[in-house]
Amino acid sequence: MTSKKKKDAPEATIASTEEPRAVEVTGSNAVPPGAPTSDDGLDFFEVHIQQLGEAMDTVDPEPSVRLVLSQPKNEVSINFPVRMDDGSWRLYTGYRIQHNNIRGPFKGGIRYAPHVTSEEVKALAALMTYKCALADVPFGGAKGGVRIDPRAHSQAELERVTRRFTHDLGTNIGPDYDIPAPDMGTNAQTMVWMMDTYMNGMSSHLKNSVRGVVTGKSLLSGGSIGREKATGQGVMYTIDEWAEETNFNLDGCRFTVQGFGNVGSHAATLMSQAGGILVGVQDHTGAIVEPGGIDPRDLKRYVREHGGVGGYGRAQACTRDDFFAAKCDILIPAALEFQIGKHEAELIQARMIAEGANGPTTPMGEAILRDRGVTFLPDILANSGGVIVSYFEWVQNKRSESWQLREVDSRLKFRIREAYGRVREMATRKKVSNRTAALAVAIERLGASYAERGIFP
Ligand code: NAD
Repeated sequence: MTSKKKKDAPEATIASTEEPRAVEVTGSNAVPPGAPTSDDGLDFFEVHIQQLGEAMDTVDPEPSVRLVLSQPKNEVSINFPVRMDDGSWRLYTGYRIQHNNIRGPFKGGIRYAPHVTSEEVKALAALMTYKCALADVPFGGAKGGVRIDPRAHSQAELERVTRRFTHDLGTNIGPDYDIPAPDMGTNAQTMVWMMDTYMNGMSSHLKNSVRGVVTGKSLLSGGSIGREKATGQGVMYTIDEWAEETNFNLDGCRFTVQGFGNVGSHAATLMSQAGGILVGVQDHTGAIVEPGGIDPRDLKRYVREHGGVGGYGRAQACTRDDFFAAKCDILIPAALEFQIGKHEAELIQARMIAEGANGPTTPMGEAILRDRGVTFLPDILANSGGVIVSYFEWVQNKRSESWQLREVDSRLKFRIREAYGRVREMATRKKVSNRTAALAVAIERLGASYAERGIFP
């Protein structure tokens, strides 16, 4: 679905001159084509506020807590010029939105996508506040984004975009203030460029003390073992908890995955290691199904080479609708928001949906599926593995330590188990959905912090 609503500034405004002296601003204020929209016409932040309202009503925090959580604390918006490889200049729009930091430094990923808008980043920042509170890591919530199609740029151009954006963010980020991480369209290399740029703004004797300004770095630059697969691993541990609770046998179960990037590919690999059979995948390049099973490792190699699953020869090409209609037990959306609307909900056959992506289900889609008895493992629970291991990386940087994979995974499993237990206990006690329960557990924790500290002054 694409939006016709008029909103943020255009992705990039381009001046292509042989003598790169001027930047010419062009384009309209329309939301970029391809931006995901909810089928009830609400934007991502409006949907979030609706869902938050249900959770607020469930635990009824102080009115001041409702008020303070209803909007982000800070919204930084930056237009910055970057030189392209051909000497022309483009102007990019980047955001860093800091939702809340009562429980610790702001924390959240940086997204590079052509459809990034401030409303999208706002919603993602808010989700980070609740995700960190639910996982009980001492962070607040933030998110960043640059409106850019990373696939349309060379590494050199992406490096200049990243370094200039980081430079312009200046003191809006910092290892004890606001700590970015990878999200859609960014990766460990992006984080290393951010770290290096930030470090080089420091005097020499401080440089090595600020590695923790970003997480999700490469191992060479101070990243944590297990961080790359952490979000997919967290999805898997959440599914394990559900399988244990419901007596569901993962061995031989059928599952499908939307999005085969960082989250989707790792979740698929781990699911297949647990005995699951991957029967369908869809991404921005196409959709494939194979009732006999797809080897996630082989598909990963193909995607690395070809940029997406489209054209993969060891499965049948199909439509997006065929993908959603594929016969399976578990669906893992791991692409972007608002992918499961009314239309998709009517096609889906899975009995459980584990949300690797943030906000993949529209309220209408969720209502239809819940009426049919489909269980949701909501985003702030199912994809919290990324921020949990980011926290481990941040701790390791602070202590100049490097943990073993076994330690990272077992600590991650413990935290997911705790969070899952709290969500299920809340859902059962208050007779609410897992999504409402997950937000409600987080609100209770945030409310407890505000009760103790008060709201300044
Ligand atoms: P990624 O860039 O590695 O992969 C994104 C995937 O989505 C790709 O396979 C791409 O083809 C697919 N995609 C893009 N547009 C699509 C479309 N219109 N239809 C179908 N597929 C499309 O990103 P990622 O890091 O795997 O993030 C995926 C989701 O998981 C996002 O919602 C992100 O916010 C969320 N998430 C990521 C992390 C993390 O640690 N990376 C942590 C928590 C949540």
